[in-house]
Amino acid sequence: MTTAADVEKRPWEEQLALDDASYRSQLAYLFDRSAFYREKLTAAGLASAEAAGGLADIARLPLTEKSELKATCTPENPVGAHLCATPAEIVRIYSTSGTTGQPSYVPLTASDLDNWLTGSARSYAASGVTRGDRAVSSYNAGPFVAGAAIEAFDRIGLCHIPVGTGNTERLIAAVELLRPEVAILTPSYAAYLIEWAAERNVDLAGSSVARVLVAGEPGGGEPAFRAKLEEGWGARVTEAMGIGDIGVSLWGECEEQDGMHLGARGFVHAELVDPETGVAVELDDGATGELVLTHLQHRAAPLLRFRTRDHVLVRIGDCACGRTGPRVRCIGRTDDMLIVRGVNVFPSAVREVVSAFAPDVSGHILVKPRTPGFKQEPPLPVSVELAQGAAADPGLADAIRERLRNVLVVQTRIELVPWGSLRRSEYKSKLVEH
Ligand SMILES: [Zn+2]
Repeated sequence: MTTAADVEKRPWEEQLALDDASYRSQLAYLFDRSAFYREKLTAAGLASAEAAGGLADIARLPLTEKSELKATCTPENPVGAHLCATPAEIVRIYSTSGTTGQPSYVPLTASDLDNWLTGSARSYAASGVTRGDRAVSSYNAGPFVAGAAIEAFDRIGLCHIPVGTGNTERLIAAVELLRPEVAILTPSYAAYLIEWAAERNVDLAGSSVARVLVAGEPGGGEPAFRAKLEEGWGARVTEAMGIGDIGVSLWGECEEQDGMHLGARGFVHAELVDPETGVAVELDDGATGELVLTHLQHRAAPLLRFRTRDHVLVRIGDCACGRTGPRVRCIGRTDDMLIVRGVNVFPSAVREVVSAFAPDVSGHILVKPRTPGFKQEPPLPVSVELAQGAAADPGLADAIRERLRNVLVVQTRIELVPWGSLRRSEYKSKLVEH
């Protein structure tokens, strides 16, 4: 019998060989059932699954943008022309929170849902959480794919204590009274809770929580931000990541904290592209680029070379946990990226550099572009919040500006603002004021 551990420790070359076979079947399925991909691939000069080749040729295929899928939605087919399954085959329809108002629908067949849960359970379990652990979560499931993450907790065998979003008293009460070993939150909320607890003399670091799992936005893997969370919680912090259109939790960090493993291995193929040109980037150690994902065994609405807008750093090489394959750390969302005189700047990377100035700063920042659009002229204005009780020292602003120039090669104008003046988030932080 093949156990979960065997799958995750399978030599990566073997995994790729299995994935190649899955991918070819997936392409045949798409040509058979997907109006969207039949048309898109034919237009790209690939008139059959055979012509499209295998995983080694995947970079020849066109990328898929979320906006293309949205453009095919009609009142008759609100999912979009990439829908392949019949109504009778679909067992679940999630929504993703569209920034444009109209939600995107994510349908799943029974096997899709099962694969989602398997991949998600692997991603979360990589952190070291195990059957019988108590885990308090603040996920706001509702119509969203986070509901599937919660089902994955059941699959791991966690005792799950859901408290929902935005109910801090209830969450702290659950921690104090039910003594969970695990807390599952967004990194912004994990940071917010440290401040909340400090103001009320609640000893969060002394609580029962030994592991904090963060997901839902980048940040959990930034060394300085992670150190702040680990100190405040007195716990080990690991992150997980997914994208609703592809799978709820695809990647998860292990206790080595050196990038997220692909928990959805076998179900999803990962590539890297240059976000500006769309040209494929080799998955070498240290490579960065936009993550592009392809379903390998999906049925309801499979996607090929889907642009996630997540900008990641790749780690290649053995991990002490024994899991094989590339690992990633999310640097930021391509949507938040600014280009300052030709240099790509991620607000989360700015926060990472600034956070290293603790205890003088609180770790909260706000990037304030002076003009609309992602192209910016230097200096880029950045508000940096001071730590509680810290005074604005002009030397500090100079030091931060200098460090940002050295590390990120960006000219900034630093405004030090008093403690408490930047907005806190109980869900996900906004680091850019548009
Ligand atoms: Zn590992």
